Amino acid sequence: MVMRACSICKRLTVKTCPYHPEARLVDNWKGEIIVLDCEKSELAKKLGIEKPGTYALRL
Ligand SMILES: [Zn+2]
Repeated sequence: MVMRACSICKRLTVKTCPYHPEARLVDNWKGEIIVLDCEKSELAKKLGIEKPGTYALRL
């Protein structure tokens, strides 16, 4: 299963981003971050992540 990243919100997805179905998908990201609780995650705040999920780092 190949995961790709939404070019807008950086969420990792298999098909299309549920929030940005029109977005281009990127497959050369360098790492990933799993956000379970956006309120408590400093890194999520820093990256501007507002919804739980798996996100790509350094697209
Ligand atoms: Zn997106």
